[in-house]
Amino acid sequence: MTEQKVAIITGASSGIGDATARALADAGYAVALAARREDRLKKLQSDLDGGGARAIVHPTDVTKRSDVEALAKATLDAFGRIDVLVNNAGLMPLSFMKNLHVDEWDRMIDVNVKGVLYGVAAVLPTMLEQKRGHIINVSSVAGRRVFPSGAVYCGTKFAVTAISEGLRAELAPSAGIRCTVIEPGAVATELTNTITDEDVKPFTARIKDMKMLESEDIARAIVWAAEQPDHVNVSEVLVLPTQQS
Ligand code: NDP
Repeated sequence: MTEQKVAIITGASSGIGDATARALADAGYAVALAARREDRLKKLQSDLDGGGARAIVHPTDVTKRSDVEALAKATLDAFGRIDVLVNNAGLMPLSFMKNLHVDEWDRMIDVNVKGVLYGVAAVLPTMLEQKRGHIINVSSVAGRRVFPSGAVYCGTKFAVTAISEGLRAELAPSAGIRCTVIEPGAVATELTNTITDEDVKPFTARIKDMKMLESEDIARAIVWAAEQPDHVNVSEVLVLPTQQS
């Protein structure tokens, strides 16, 4: 019998992370659910339990390296291995540079960039020892295109894309550790709730006029990348709503 594969998903308390945890569980993975809102994670765990999946909840703030290390340890203690890390936690408080939302710039760098790096640091020793593993980083179409009000958000996602390619180039050929960057277009989630700059609100209202992606559309792409045979590294997946230019 083949051993059950194990995935860690950050930002599993809503949106793309929640849908990805469900999709990976459906695909047979044991899952470790991480985010700050424990009540949401527990509800997800109970849904997964009901479907016969194995899931643990680990309240985690990805801006705290010790939290992310404890998440990796709790996953190993519960399931004995780590096959996939989905570095998905992120926030998008878009703002115009002139409005100087400097605290939000800091926060995006802490969560979207440093959070991803802490995830990488927490799982790499295990993956190197296992001589296999797969790190899937959720970047964005904003990691390929810059738009007004998105200078800092796009900057964080360009960084995620660059870090992912660097990881792949270093670790896939030499250590068999795969890396994928997922680049969603507009997905209907809670992501825009963090926007406080009133000047940005007309922009987000316009986006909602089109048929946006559902979180499940991105979850399918993530599971597809994860489920490729070991010799296939899906490096980059850009998924846009049909109506998005
Ligand atoms: P949501 O707002 O629904 O999800 C964001 C998740 O990140 C939540 O689960 C939240 O959990 C978690 N999170 C935020 N801060 C932290 C933190 N400090 N520590 C741990 N977890 C944290 O939005 P999405 O599902 O849309 O976003 C998921 C990813 O997809 C993000 O990286 C986003 O940039 C990316 N993306 C989204 C797009 C979209 O249009 N929706 C498009 C392109 C990319 P909690 O608050 O409980 O900690």
